Amino acid sequence: MRPASVANKAERGSKAGHLPGGSPVRAGHSPGRSRVRAGQPCGQSPVCVGQPTGQSQLRAGQPPGPLRVPHGVSLSLPGHGAEEPGRGPSSVGRRRAWREGWWSGAEARPSPNFDERPAGEAVTLVVLHSISLPPGEYGGDAVEQLFTNRLDCDAHPYYAQLRGLRVSAHFFVRRDGRVLQFVSCDRRAWHAGRSHWRGRDDCNHYSIGIELEGLEGHAFDDEQYRVLARLLRALARRWPIAETVGHEDVAPGRKADPGPGFDWPRLRRLLRRRRPSLPRATG
Ligand SMILES: [Zn+2]
Repeated sequence: MRPASVANKAERGSKAGHLPGGSPVRAGHSPGRSRVRAGQPCGQSPVCVGQPTGQSQLRAGQPPGPLRVPHGVSLSLPGHGAEEPGRGPSSVGRRRAWREGWWSGAEARPSPNFDERPAGEAVTLVVLHSISLPPGEYGGDAVEQLFTNRLDCDAHPYYAQLRGLRVSAHFFVRRDGRVLQFVSCDRRAWHAGRSHWRGRDDCNHYSIGIELEGLEGHAFDDEQYRVLARLLRALARRWPIAETVGHEDVAPGRKADPGPGFDWPRLRRLLRRRRPSLPRATG
């Protein structure tokens, strides 16, 4: 069984430079407000709300992380700064694609939920998530409102547990393929929470978080795969992205998104289609 997802991480409302693996917390939380608790059955939660640090990550009956085969798509494009001659976008095109970490293919929805990446930290990882609010309902504005601290937590019973939560992702890919961007990729969004990948903690430091509108166990739309592949290629041209993995891979036992409904082989095929010699499946 896998736990859930969304992206997130609630982080300590402290400033930039907070401790790695910083506990998921909500800033602005005030006494009397409900909050997501440790031990929350995040396997059922469509929103990957992080658990406070110190909580056990594994549940009874769940295989320990090391035995689990992670998903993942290798995404090393040759020279993210030096496109092959005659192939792919020109350097001018790449500059147009990104402006201070904001993608031209997305609608900007600036969120206050970010801080600085550690000095000199290279962006080498993409973490995929899934989220929908209310769970399983698509097309509304609640996710956008959550990531920009404007969600009316009285609007739906499920939202009570989100009160005071401060989370974000860099991108949100809607069912119709529309992409919203909340945080510049040059900055650290609060999506992965307590996490670990290839010997390194706190993936938020060196990753880009992409939320797919969806629900764990549910299938994703064709348009989402198409746009996701386009976004991943654009990211890999701009940053030295080595791989794309799921939240469930960097926080096994604690998060389960994007979940079994996400078709990793399909994503690999889409990425190969444009660049046959590049992406190589690793998982
Ligand atoms: Zn997640």
